[in-house]
Amino acid sequence: MSDIEIAQANEQKEIWPITKVAAELGLGEDDIEQYGRYKAKVSAAAQKRLLKNKAGKLVLVTAINPTPAGEGKSTVSVGLGDALRRRGHKAVIALREPSLGPVMGMKGGATGGGYAQVVPMEDINLHFTGDMHALTTAVDTLAALIDNHIQQGNQLNIDPRRISWKRGLDINDRALRNVVIGLGGPYQGIPREDGFDITVASELMAVLCLAKDLHELKERISKIVIGLTYDRKPVTVDELGVTGAIAALLKDAVKPNLVQTLEHTPTFVHGGPFANIAHGCNSVMATEAALHSGEIAITEAGFGADLGAEKFMDIKSPVLGKTPDAVVIVATVRALKYNGGVSLKELTTADTDAVARGFVNLQRHITNLKRYGVPVVVAINGFTSDTPAEIQLIKDLCAKEGVTAAHATVWADGGAGGLELADALVDALSQPADFKPLYDNDDSFENKLITLVQKVYGGKGFELSHKASLNLKMIKRNGWEHLPLCIAKTQYSFSDDPKQLGAPSDFTINVSEIVPKLGAGFLVVKTGDIMTMPGLPKQPAALNIDVDDDGRISGLF
Ligand code: ADP
Repeated sequence: MSDIEIAQANEQKEIWPITKVAAELGLGEDDIEQYGRYKAKVSAAAQKRLLKNKAGKLVLVTAINPTPAGEGKSTVSVGLGDALRRRGHKAVIALREPSLGPVMGMKGGATGGGYAQVVPMEDINLHFTGDMHALTTAVDTLAALIDNHIQQGNQLNIDPRRISWKRGLDINDRALRNVVIGLGGPYQGIPREDGFDITVASELMAVLCLAKDLHELKERISKIVIGLTYDRKPVTVDELGVTGAIAALLKDAVKPNLVQTLEHTPTFVHGGPFANIAHGCNSVMATEAALHSGEIAITEAGFGADLGAEKFMDIKSPVLGKTPDAVVIVATVRALKYNGGVSLKELTTADTDAVARGFVNLQRHITNLKRYGVPVVVAINGFTSDTPAEIQLIKDLCAKEGVTAAHATVWADGGAGGLELADALVDALSQPADFKPLYDNDDSFENKLITLVQKVYGGKGFELSHKASLNLKMIKRNGWEHLPLCIAKTQYSFSDDPKQLGAPSDFTINVSEIVPKLGAGFLVVKTGDIMTMPGLPKQPAALNIDVDDDGRISGLF
């Protein structure tokens, strides 16, 4: 059965009203704002109240460098939460919200898979509680206000050639990467080059995910730099005078969404920046809600640990004020083979040699994460094509690294398939964590980047394009160098070349552009050919999706 068929079969029988899920967290009907029967947002007052509870343990789920299909971080996060509850621990999950880009494109949704899913999966993957639409509207409202400001006399002296704020859309649409707007004469605006980013790459998404409440959301929005004046001075949203309007559009989107797994584990699904082009972690508010409403909060960070986990540790944790108590690295037999040089078509053929070759990728992630001083557990996300020999080999190789690898069959068996992993995790949580940050924000841009390139990616250095050098000069001139770095890089490789699998070394990271994001509070370092508006593949997932006359959706994957 496909994910959607499993979800639909179980939803009809067993999904709880969201009020019952909320009650598990100590939240009454007045504490939540219901969106239908199975989805709710946590009210601002309830969120504040929750934060008075003692914080539980924080578990970060990350992964090795994936195959194009994803390696099951969401699936394992969900199954692990369900398994911990079966063991009597009060686990609460906090995941990212899906973007329509992958849903209609290649990778699929973000609600887990098989018997380890959050429901109602069709709603969550399509329009959910409208957060993505609110964000897209806010992104484009700000763009419209910038162009209107210029049209109406341009008091702020904004240089139309130096506007960095782009329009947004939550779908992969390569035709909108670069556009010219304002054509048609004086009444149609000032012609200029513009472009669209996918909503999840927009700074507003990062701002929403890093704000601790509506007050801070406004503060962060006010600081966003939308471009430069003719004399190269930064222009902020505050100077445009529209902070209030943009924040007003996000007043509900900023509240965490509550749903449940197929086994009723309370799950916050909120905020969804991609990890390859943004910071890759769900909202601080949702993670806080999970931390303060249960004993163990499980959250994930996008793509491989070189992107998502690094950004969790270096960008999100300082804002959250909490570092992980343990990290789970999701590995699959197929991704290890892929990293060992096997083609996508051959991944289901048994091949222990390829697993052994690809292990270098997992090994480097283990070393990297141990450097943060946090206990590490490996979750082998089991596929039906895996052989016992392949799984045992991963366990043996991990043991040599001093790390427990647990076999999880949560996709096939739900929480019952995650008990070995849950036990390994509880054991890891009993070990002391002694967090050490990777770099000091006050260090120079160059030192921070070289630390990332050499210590996390295993490369030898970096090169700045002419444009990136100019960006850096501007950043230094404005005193923004102290901000952490948010690297935009392919998820397939430690390097900036998606074809260099395994554990490449001696490579150079090519920086094409550095974009200051003052609202989010980081500098986006674009590397290789990474684009902030992806394209759809030859056979988009949309070709399989349908809805029948009764509104029942099929083929979502
Ligand atoms: P990630 O969070 O790493 O991107 P997901 O958990 O979203 O990965 O899983 C990606 C896809 O792979 C989903 O469609 C899911 O159903 C599928 N999947 C995950 N784990 C398994 C598994 N063990 N067996 C089969 N399919 C799986």
